[in-house]
Amino acid sequence: MNFLPVFLKLAGQACLVVGGGEVAARKVETLLRAGGRVTVLSPGLSEGLAEKVASGQVGYLPKRFESGDVADFHLVVSATDRREVNEAVAEAAKSRGVPVNVVDCPELCSFIFPAIIDRSPLVIAVSTGGASPVLARLVRARLEGALPAAYGRLAELAEKFRQRVKKAVREPARRRKFWERTLQGPVADLVFAGREQEAEARLETLIRAEAKDRPEGKGGFVSLVGAGPGDPELLTLGAFRAIQEADVVVYDRLVSPEVLRLVRNDAARIYAGKERSRHTLPQDQINTLLVRLAKEGKRVVRLKGGDPFIFGRGGEEIETLMEEGVPFQVVPGITAASGCAAYAGIPLTHRDHAQSVTFVTGHLKEGEITGLDWDRLARPGQTLVIYMGLQGLPHICEALIAHGCAPETPAALVQQGTTRHQRLIAGTVRSLPGLVAKSAVSAPTLVIVGGVVSLHRKLAWFKGESGGIEA
Ligand code: SAH
Repeated sequence: MNFLPVFLKLAGQACLVVGGGEVAARKVETLLRAGGRVTVLSPGLSEGLAEKVASGQVGYLPKRFESGDVADFHLVVSATDRREVNEAVAEAAKSRGVPVNVVDCPELCSFIFPAIIDRSPLVIAVSTGGASPVLARLVRARLEGALPAAYGRLAELAEKFRQRVKKAVREPARRRKFWERTLQGPVADLVFAGREQEAEARLETLIRAEAKDRPEGKGGFVSLVGAGPGDPELLTLGAFRAIQEADVVVYDRLVSPEVLRLVRNDAARIYAGKERSRHTLPQDQINTLLVRLAKEGKRVVRLKGGDPFIFGRGGEEIETLMEEGVPFQVVPGITAASGCAAYAGIPLTHRDHAQSVTFVTGHLKEGEITGLDWDRLARPGQTLVIYMGLQGLPHICEALIAHGCAPETPAALVQQGTTRHQRLIAGTVRSLPGLVAKSAVSAPTLVIVGGVVSLHRKLAWFKGESGGIEA
């Protein structure tokens, strides 16, 4: 270890930054964030720094550096592009015992700036000791993605209750276990879901139970998570984390194997998939299953294809959770329309083709599609996206034409969009049903109708294994 990581208390401390350019400005920013009283020393200033000086956020010494300038400062940063100035600053600071950093010259530094992940009061510093600042930044990016933005709020909550817990749970080893459970359990989930009051209430209950020597581990949490259309890269950070932390994952047929692979090995997986005309678990059984698992104290992820609130019956599932008082969150996902359209090179709206986009279900009930306003859907200047429309495709195209849609309106079917099995069958409202009937397509499939469909010829960029496009 070439440098010892420590955290400096800078609040109210006088800091000197030598240099007036962009690099200096970034260091000034960092020092200000930590509460330092910053003075910039330089013959000239960049625009940004000049603004900070004008607004009084930063002091200014308009001069060239001399060794006496470091007196009275607790910390010095040299950010000039002149080696001899940087060396003079480093030497002056060192001879007075003032910590000094020279940007990009580890050999002149008595301290270095790490890459910072700021979830204050939680702060993580990453350093390669100057060996590779870029590597440090890459590591930071990884950690940024893995740590919920709300960790800071969780740390604040822990701080607020720290003394209370100390009093209630006197034995250190037990107290540590208590915190370990709490910071990974439903209290944390509630904080991440932005439900701090409930988190505090839950923590109160846990403390009381623990004090009475009746540790109450019970009380789970359900995350209703959108898994997106297939490509795991399309998960949100929240979805990714929820999946990785789950004790149980209840998933649908639409959830891709690649996404399921992200579930921890020791987590239980329950298939609740729905196949057309073969419902593996009826909806009310899924609802009660979620409630039961949560009441057993599990962290449950209910994983659904696409977005849970778009043809996903997510509303029904959380209604039951609500009635039963089970805490939950909803993590939206990329819906099939967004995913398939993007990967097929079909913008859903376009100034020249479509001013609106409508998502409809083409699900057949006893051979019919009910509840659609065909007159409205048949009008030009819009995009129509049909979910669950494979069986009903001939019927849909017929109805559109019968209600005034031009038969030559471009239309396409996207099979298994965003996955490596993606295929696009492109035609018109008149020709598409015939083209689809001729090729063996595999579910899930999405139908897109409207002028925008023709743009795929220019804009298609993603190729599945089959090369992608058939017309
Ligand atoms: N909640 C999901 C939709 C569920 S309904 C979402 O937001 O995407 C199921 C229908 O979604 C399927 O019949 C199909 O029309 C569509 N679908 C889902 N994933 C798809 C994919 N990867 N490619 C094509 N269509 C898809």
